Amino acid sequence: MVWLCFLVDQRRKVRRSKPAAGTCSRCGGGASVADMMTQTRFCCVPFHYKCWKAIICTFCGATLKSYT
Ligand SMILES: [Zn+2]
Repeated sequence: MVWLCFLVDQRRKVRRSKPAAGTCSRCGGGASVADMMTQTRFCCVPFHYKCWKAIICTFCGATLKSYT
């Protein structure tokens, strides 16, 4: 079943974001509230989507907080 790992991959996308109060603890950049989407693909065919909200850094892209 090891081969399965090479065929399945996950992609994280930011669907939209807007500025939020707060700064990044890593780089000090501005934070924003984002609608995130995780797409799981099998052989390049998306078969699962998961949408969630998160506070992310607009500068380095770090996830500061996530809401599931
Ligand atoms: Zn940052």
